[in-house]
Amino acid sequence: MPNRPRLLFPLILLALALFLPGPMARAQQGDNPTEYTIQPGDTLLIIAQRFDVPMDLLAQVNDIEDPNLIQVGQTLIIPGADAVAQARQADLARTLPREARRALMQASMTSAAPLAFGLGLHDAGVAIPVFAMLAMRDPALPPPLLAMEAPEGIVQGETGVVWVTTAAPFPPQGRFQGRTLIFIGEGRDEAGFHYFALMPTGALDKPGEKTLSVRVGNVAWKQPVAILAGQYETQHIVLPPSKGGLLEPKKLKDEREILYAIWDRVTGPPRWNAPFKFPIGEGFARTSPYGTRRSYNGGPVSSFHAGSDWGAPEGTPILAPAPGVIALAEPLTVRGGAVVIDHGAGVYSNFWHMSRIDVKPGDVVQTGDQIGLVGTTGLSTGAHLHWEIRVNGVAVDPMQWTKTPMP
Ligand SMILES: [Zn+2]
Repeated sequence: MPNRPRLLFPLILLALALFLPGPMARAQQGDNPTEYTIQPGDTLLIIAQRFDVPMDLLAQVNDIEDPNLIQVGQTLIIPGADAVAQARQADLARTLPREARRALMQASMTSAAPLAFGLGLHDAGVAIPVFAMLAMRDPALPPPLLAMEAPEGIVQGETGVVWVTTAAPFPPQGRFQGRTLIFIGEGRDEAGFHYFALMPTGALDKPGEKTLSVRVGNVAWKQPVAILAGQYETQHIVLPPSKGGLLEPKKLKDEREILYAIWDRVTGPPRWNAPFKFPIGEGFARTSPYGTRRSYNGGPVSSFHAGSDWGAPEGTPILAPAPGVIALAEPLTVRGGAVVIDHGAGVYSNFWHMSRIDVKPGDVVQTGDQIGLVGTTGLSTGAHLHWEIRVNGVAVDPMQWTKTPMP
């Protein structure tokens, strides 16, 4: 990465400013070098400590080869704040303490991408050294993880939210049900720096008590979060022979790969700031709610309905439920005419079986913009709207998103 050193420098400066507030604050009092006359009883170390300047730097600036050979009455140049800050950065970059190296290894072993994202970087390699510096906690500083707020329980298929407050602008890392949580910065106040992560659950996630793990630097917090059983029914779907062939495993797999490649991306913070709007007009009946367990042509229940279906005549306009950028707009074999809207934060709205598509990838849409028309293309038994919300790849109940402000 050619831009890594350039980015690393301000990040190290940032880390320093946060974790070594004392020295920085004192050094800032004077940016220009000053002079000092050596007094009886002085040593280079004592002088360095008095002016809060690294002894190596003091020796270097004054051309002192042996720190023991200084004389009373000799005038020393005391470097200014800029020089001190630069020397400290260089020092830190050269020698990471053992604790920091361990954190560095841990960060390398887990995905550093969410961390990089939280720092507004697209290069995870830059985030790791900064993460490592977080581990060099000064005992005098408050612990990096200050507070965590998570739901006690989440109904299968619903999306929970965990809030974390940190002492420094470093996004937490977390896991829930084996899934990596993506933490996103939501500003700061006198309490600290606030982050949230969405906790998506699927309709087939096993009910019971689970553990939410969150880590900031080398401080880890755990909290129980229960998965509560949702009320989902089982639907037996019989496909006409002409459409049965669409269930070929190869075709299913190809489409899934295209879609998961999109759903796994987190392109930025949330683009919405209000509950999602329902994507078609009013007065349509729900024909198959989210979460219905499904069996095709008498087969076993192996999946659940990832979206919510509404019976609507062919040609009914479909409207964007929230602001976003079109991530996919093309006919798919199984899902038919398909549009995927990227709402940011790893949240995607998906519309399948459309008869017409009115947008193209990269288009920016606002709430209420028309994206296409209802149809019955692909694996479908009649004209209907299928609306599906994916959060970090997990299909969640879209109706929750129309009722509850997220996060
Ligand atoms: Zn559907």
